[in-house]
Amino acid sequence: MNKSPFMRLTLLLLCAIGVAITNAQPAKKLPIIDMHLHALAANDQGPAPMNIGAPFAHWGCHDPKQPYMQTIMQVFKNGDWTSHPLTSPLTDSALMVQTIAVLNQYNVYGVTSGEPHMVRRWKAAAPKRIINAVMWNYYDVQRVGLSVDSLQQLFQSSEFKVFGELGLQYEGISFSDSLVEPFLAMAEKLDIPVGVHVGPGPPGVIYMGANNYRARLHSATQLEEALVRHPNLRVYAMHAGWPMLDDMLATLYAHPQLYVDLGIIAYAVPKKSFTIISNEW
Ligand SMILES: [Zn+2]
Repeated sequence: MNKSPFMRLTLLLLCAIGVAITNAQPAKKLPIIDMHLHALAANDQGPAPMNIGAPFAHWGCHDPKQPYMQTIMQVFKNGDWTSHPLTSPLTDSALMVQTIAVLNQYNVYGVTSGEPHMVRRWKAAAPKRIINAVMWNYYDVQRVGLSVDSLQQLFQSSEFKVFGELGLQYEGISFSDSLVEPFLAMAEKLDIPVGVHVGPGPPGVIYMGANNYRARLHSATQLEEALVRHPNLRVYAMHAGWPMLDDMLATLYAHPQLYVDLGIIAYAVPKKSFTIISNEW
């Protein structure tokens, strides 16, 4: 039976606090499935080390006289806009080793997406902890040859279990766009879960190179037509459509096959904003 939107959100929040509970009872560390982990290179989010707020205290301000990239790089380099920055590791291997150590420490199994060669590297390093997923954008079809046929082979071989994170929002493409249709049909046919980015990228990401990213695609209502066309497709909205909560709730209510993960909003958005969201839900 499908769970109500409230139940699904409650379960996710329980997962989020599971770490604290299991810490108090080290003998009973229940397993946690992290639906949103990435096997990325240390420099993929900018030249390491980068600093991200955990959480950010506010979203700062920008003087339009200077390029936005200059503003945001100062933030990520200096750890501005936060009193609690997290500093990224310097190398690909340090990033992987430190992440796997945390998975082991808290008994976490990670649905881990990235380019297939990176995911394979992480899987080789922690075969029991890593669940292979394919990170994918529409234009990857051209860039790295991840077409319907090649993806189908990856999934049919059972090596890869999840299709996502789909970064279509960064390209200005809706999940319901006809361009995406053959990929969703393939996933539905093979019963492969699909995770799609719906919500925040870095603040101002349009001016950091993602020219086609649009705020309107934070709305989970962009999923609707695809969900109606594929009622048996397992879909989760990554980052939970923050900050367009009413749209997320309405879409969860209307489409019982839809789930959400919290992703970055669980630790990076200003605490007050996340707490208000949690209380409302
Ligand atoms: Zn992500």
